Amino acid sequence: MDDMKIKIMHLYPDLLNLYGDRGNIECLKRRLEWRDIKAETESYTCDDNNFDLSDTDILFLGGGSDREQKIVCSRLLEHRTEISEFAENGGSIIAVCGGYQLLGKYYKLEDQTIEGLGILDIYTEQGDDRLIGNIVLESDVIGGYIVGFENHGGRTYIGSHTSLGRVVYGHGNDETSGAEGVIYKNVIATYLHGPLLPKNPKLCDYILGNALKRKYGITETLRSLDDSLENKANDYIVNRFVKK
Ligand code: GLN
Repeated sequence: MDDMKIKIMHLYPDLLNLYGDRGNIECLKRRLEWRDIKAETESYTCDDNNFDLSDTDILFLGGGSDREQKIVCSRLLEHRTEISEFAENGGSIIAVCGGYQLLGKYYKLEDQTIEGLGILDIYTEQGDDRLIGNIVLESDVIGGYIVGFENHGGRTYIGSHTSLGRVVYGHGNDETSGAEGVIYKNVIATYLHGPLLPKNPKLCDYILGNALKRKYGITETLRSLDDSLENKANDYIVNRFVKK
């Protein structure tokens, strides 16, 4: 495993980085290193102008306020073709909240519509109030519970896309459908902050497994790690809100 390396790119962390979203990058990196796989992380900010995904394996887009989303959308649109080709070719994308909305066609606010990348056939509309709080999903992707925290004004309608999970506590995509997030190829889009991955190590390994498979053709299961603390954190939320 010594000669393997996964490159993770954090896109616009200067604008999209809410509620410790950066912790997801740290989690991906550490879980690779604990298995003797090298991890390279790079941030691409608004000051950079050499956008290149050719050696990127995992792309991370965090959450942001409406104001920040308005600023970042034109930047993202400049790279629409590269990001879309990356997703279509099996590149891993993790997009949280504001980042999730921007993968869709548009995010309609009261006074303006923010154009998205259109990588997912979904759209978002701002609601009257914000959907805030702890959230728990049941997910076939990892065969268990995914826990997190949501805070969004937008309601996302995912059409015929597959959701990341079924909401068993909390609001999810649009408050009423019971669906949360989207999984499309190796793209995982979700409203869950938290940060998401440290609390859900199985999901982190699912993403790492996909990236290693795409890059090196590795299909065997990743070496298991001591996740007792992480699982305790996950169980605590599930016990508190679901299995009361
Ligand atoms: N501004 C978006 C909304 O309120 C996304 C918020 C976020 O990323 N937490 O729906």
